[in-house]
Amino acid sequence: MHETHSCGPAYRDDADRPYATGLAQLRTGRRVLIAGAAASAAGVAFSASAASAAGTSAAASPKRAYVLVTDGCRPGEISSTLTPNLFALRAGGLHLPKATSLPVMETIPNHVMMMTGQRPDRTGVPANTIYDRSLGAVRTMDQPDDIAVPTIIERLRARGYRTGTVLSKEYLYGVFGERAGQRWEPSPTLPITEHAPDIFTVQAAIAMLQDYDPHLMFVNLGDIDRFGHADLTGTTLQVARRLALADTDLQVGRFLDAVRSAGHWENAMVIVLADHSMDWSLPLDFISLQSGFDADDLLAGNVTIADNGGADLCYWTGQAAKRRDAVARMERIARATDGVLSTHRPASLRLGPNAGDLVVYCEPGRRFSDPSNTSNPIPGNHGHPATEPIPFFIGGGHPRVPTAVKRSTLTHTYDVAPTVASFFGLSTRPYEGRAHL
Ligand SMILES: [Zn+2]
Repeated sequence: MHETHSCGPAYRDDADRPYATGLAQLRTGRRVLIAGAAASAAGVAFSASAASAAGTSAAASPKRAYVLVTDGCRPGEISSTLTPNLFALRAGGLHLPKATSLPVMETIPNHVMMMTGQRPDRTGVPANTIYDRSLGAVRTMDQPDDIAVPTIIERLRARGYRTGTVLSKEYLYGVFGERAGQRWEPSPTLPITEHAPDIFTVQAAIAMLQDYDPHLMFVNLGDIDRFGHADLTGTTLQVARRLALADTDLQVGRFLDAVRSAGHWENAMVIVLADHSMDWSLPLDFISLQSGFDADDLLAGNVTIADNGGADLCYWTGQAAKRRDAVARMERIARATDGVLSTHRPASLRLGPNAGDLVVYCEPGRRFSDPSNTSNPIPGNHGHPATEPIPFFIGGGHPRVPTAVKRSTLTHTYDVAPTVASFFGLSTRPYEGRAHL
């Protein structure tokens, strides 16, 4: 839902949408649909690229790694009563309570960090929404070539391991593209637009497990986030959020049962984490920077903002010679704006050039609405430091997974790739993050 403010204007036309691109590739034969028994029974479809890695000894490995992202889940929301399956998995495995999302605390950059093990100045993906200077437009980072470095998916696949992605959001489906050996294709079978409900996503994950049995499966569960963007100041919607948490937990339970039924539990590592948490603002507690910039004689008409909910990415589009002065003015104006927490040069947050010239965070309980007061009406947002804490724990029956251990090591989303690499015996040297097994 929050994507309405960031995805809306991002496509030049519908043909550019990732689902539409995938469908066109299926029609022209560039992608091939695979019909497994479980997939057919569940009414889901997978695709594979023509060139899959040849079978090697890796293909016979009994190890299984499952990465489940409970999108937008706050660590405090996991409890024995509301989310018993997640609670039990956490209690029985390695609990990493000092875990955080990394800037910008949005969905796409953190999923990319999980799979690349690197920060955005290397991955090329600093936020959900950027101003694309070559395109001259604000757009969603949902194109496969937006990721500039290899993912753990490709590394494993090149070594002959089977890899699968089951991603519930259109832009994640788009940005990870054809990297995995097997991919869930939501559009041919489900009447969905931007998100698939968890019940369908997990149905697809279970079918993939039964038909293709990937060594690494990467799954995004979008329901908690989707309901999180609703207004939690009303009782009805607090109930909706709790229902989403309970249902996601039920779906995770179904998936773990399928792992056990397939006989993989003793060889499995299950990483559960969120990409960011969630913060809520009252309807009128938004901040808009564009009008302040436009009231300045130097900045007027020469600053474009990519709104990322709790973070505004500001781009100077005027003469290069005036950039230094312009950014200093942007900083001054932003800092003087009520509700702004802090301003940062993108390099200091390791965001790289795609993040523009200035990153502005809001205070807890606030959100950005740019370029206009009506651009972002959604109360639930993330992207700012208030949404850093995330759940992160590792369960499963593989002997390398510690039993009932709580470790206060600092942990981040980009630790997923090195942890998976280490599990499969690959070098962790390419990664900035650390392996936790
Ligand atoms: Zn997310």
